[in-house]
Amino acid sequence: MTKRKILITGGAGFIGSHVVRLFVNKYPDYTVVNLDKLTYAGNLENLRDIEKKPNYHFEKGDILDIEFLFEVFKKYGIDGVIHLAAESHVDRSLHNPTEFAETNILGTLNLLRAAQASWANAYEGKVFYHISTDEVYGSADHGGFFTETTPIDPRSPYSASKASSDHFVSAFHNSFSLPTRISRCSNNYGPFHFPEKLIPLMINNILNNKPLPVYGKGENIRDWLFVEDHAGAIDSIFHSGKTGEVYNIGGNNEWRNIDLVNFLCYTMDKKLGREEGTSAKLITYVKDRLGHDLRYAIDASKLTAETGWRPQVTFEEGLEKTVDWYLANQEWLKNVTSGDYLKYYSKMYQA
Ligand code: NAD
Repeated sequence: MTKRKILITGGAGFIGSHVVRLFVNKYPDYTVVNLDKLTYAGNLENLRDIEKKPNYHFEKGDILDIEFLFEVFKKYGIDGVIHLAAESHVDRSLHNPTEFAETNILGTLNLLRAAQASWANAYEGKVFYHISTDEVYGSADHGGFFTETTPIDPRSPYSASKASSDHFVSAFHNSFSLPTRISRCSNNYGPFHFPEKLIPLMINNILNNKPLPVYGKGENIRDWLFVEDHAGAIDSIFHSGKTGEVYNIGGNNEWRNIDLVNFLCYTMDKKLGREEGTSAKLITYVKDRLGHDLRYAIDASKLTAETGWRPQVTFEEGLEKTVDWYLANQEWLKNVTSGDYLKYYSKMYQA
């Protein structure tokens, strides 16, 4: 097996940490370099179990710093990139779109340029794999599913920045033959998810007996995939995907937000030994998110047909694993919800 030297950006974040863990454990002969700026969303606590493995390396730095990227490519002889570093929260993008354009668009462009220059047209065996989102397709309001040929129609500053980065990745493939791949995944959930996102936010608030803020009437629909299944799909695409291709990744698991929150309340009541209905009493409808896409729905059949990947974890199993993890790791939750998180939370959810 080739001893690959892979740069994973954003490896201290939610999905990135699962991808790093999978690659470090599954491929002991690979060199796995985690490059992360450690923003509010990046946390090395997410990687304590693998940080001492000899094939794992951490480089703290910013994808906006191209000289630093050149140095990292050279230092490790990087031959594969899995790019996850991003500003990832839609609500934050409504308040600070410039930061999203800088990190997600310019940061991706820097990484493309660093790969292009470092590999100097010797592309044999190289992979530049960009992790994107189903949100670039807009909203599937009128039924049907997003396929890889669905027109790009981003509606939030977050999805606009991701769509733009996707276009730059495609442009580097078309213009310079950079060996790229892109995948677009639906909503992830699981351990180490920062509690500004729906599922961990609700778990944290249930534990603290705080209101459970549900946007609008709770009718928005999302497809949910357990994060380890996303990491498995990334592994499949990195090793077996085709150059220049886009792959959708999804769980075939659509939920209205309000149904999901009720199911989570039910699961939490059971786990905490509370009377059924206790947590659901905390549900509070709040003013809808600006430009809130109604429905995301993914057709991942191309990926399954080409690589055999399919989700391994049912939603019931995944949600139970997730709740169990948060209950067993309340210290992690306390640490990430102190300080700046409290300021952010009061700005977002207090009347
Ligand atoms: P996250 O916010 O948890 O993690 C992002 C990571 O990127 C953090 O560790 C952060 O420190 C790092 N980072 C941010 N700016 C950086 C910079 N300038 N330089 C270096 N590192 C920087 O995000 P996530 O939820 O794990 O998402 C990872 C990727 O997957 C993103 O590209 C996102 O668009 C995509 N994605 C996420 C989901 C989801 O449901 N969370 C679904 C589909 C696609």
